[in-house]
Amino acid sequence: SEKTMDKIVALCKGRGFVYPGSEIYGGLSNTWDYGPLGVEFKNNVKKAWWQKFVQESRYNVGLDAAILMNPQAWVASGHVGGFSDPLMDCKECKTRHRADQLIEDQTGENPAGWSDQQMMDFIRDKGVTCPNCGKTNFTEIRKFNLMFKTYQGVTEDAKNEIYLRPETAQGIFVNFSNIQRTTRKKLPFGVCQIGKSFRNEITPGNFTFRTREFEQMEMEFFCKPGTDLEWFSYWKDTCKNWLLSLGIKEENIKLRDHEQEELSHYSNATTDIEFMFPFGWGELWGIADRTDFDLKQHITHSTKGLDYFDPETNERYVPYVVEPSLGADRVALAFLCEAYDEEQLDEKDTRVVLRLHPALAPFKACVLPLSKKLSEQAQEVYDKLSKYFRVDYDEAGSIGKRYRRQDEIGTPFCLTYDFDSVEDGCVTVRDRDTMEQERVKIDELVHYISKRLKF
Ligand code: ATP
Repeated sequence: SEKTMDKIVALCKGRGFVYPGSEIYGGLSNTWDYGPLGVEFKNNVKKAWWQKFVQESRYNVGLDAAILMNPQAWVASGHVGGFSDPLMDCKECKTRHRADQLIEDQTGENPAGWSDQQMMDFIRDKGVTCPNCGKTNFTEIRKFNLMFKTYQGVTEDAKNEIYLRPETAQGIFVNFSNIQRTTRKKLPFGVCQIGKSFRNEITPGNFTFRTREFEQMEMEFFCKPGTDLEWFSYWKDTCKNWLLSLGIKEENIKLRDHEQEELSHYSNATTDIEFMFPFGWGELWGIADRTDFDLKQHITHSTKGLDYFDPETNERYVPYVVEPSLGADRVALAFLCEAYDEEQLDEKDTRVVLRLHPALAPFKACVLPLSKKLSEQAQEVYDKLSKYFRVDYDEAGSIGKRYRRQDEIGTPFCLTYDFDSVEDGCVTVRDRDTMEQERVKIDELVHYISKRLKF
């Protein structure tokens, strides 16, 4: 049976992963609220990223910078000024589109680095159509700034105009010297950050794939010029392996290296990791060797010396940077799509199961008393485990139904407390994927479950 976005969205809404935003007021288009299961799940995704990129890394440290920044930072980054999105309107139905997205979605070509004229010519020559009405009749491209504006202070005058950040990266660059000085790190080292970003996207959609408010997980890895391509390749492998180690199948991702012509003028190399969503290939992770572009921009605009003194060579230089940038919501959606499965057990019985890696599952286990007479003892098992993991408890309905409810939300272990448990101090552990059962001592459950959370 087919994996469709409709089924995944329905499961998300029905079980409390993701609700439409502001629903009781008729919603606010393309906003989504993570429910009780969704918040656990997305936190686990972020924790798994932090574990690999900060905790287990020999090189990296973390940061949590402010969303609001001095507007000069956005002049330096290029977000205020010439650099913005290429928009065109459909002359037939008056809908607005991003030219680069139309090209990518309909032809698979990546137009990064193309001029507006090249995009317009390409759209005409290839007969790229309006997704709304199917015609090929567009206006010229006009540039549009995607940043959300707001005002700081009580008066709404232009002087106090500030922006919500469209990426987390700049908070890292402006803190480069603070971090290097206070941690006394030597190159190479990386700085990792997870946080909200905002872009006034013209065509949000595909559920949580593209929204105007989203979360990013970004790293800026600073290294000596000349060593950047080696580190680029190192982090590209690390990123790919992180996805595979958490259950993404190799055949569902592809690494797309940008061609020389496609590269931004400051980039030495760029690779996108794409994932096969039910609606087609979509970018998950943008990995770029950005050279010294960002730090140099901030040096020019702030007039501060953001360079590095290398004690090994007694030289001063501006580090190069490798940036892997990942959307938390987007990769969470990819994990959900990968995990969704409908298993045909017999002619009239299909089992919906989310085969999430246990590290990502909202609940690590669910405690089920076989009979309500055993509630008290089963609750004690719950209390014990909840000191270590997020666990669920369910005593409503038949055991079979309760197993299926947990399968559907990806709980890797169901722990049934029965009348024998009172005597032998064991529960029956039922595995989500194999449905096999074994008796395990209650005292060993923490260890039993912990082992399975490794990735
Ligand atoms: P796209 O081409 O999909 O708009 P992008 O190339 O503009 O993405 P980057 O600026 O490289 O994206 O951002 C890095 C990552 O942040 C993306 O790979 C994606 O995972 C995530 N991301 C970017 N924009 C959004 C969005 N509007 N909604 C959700 N995630 C996003």
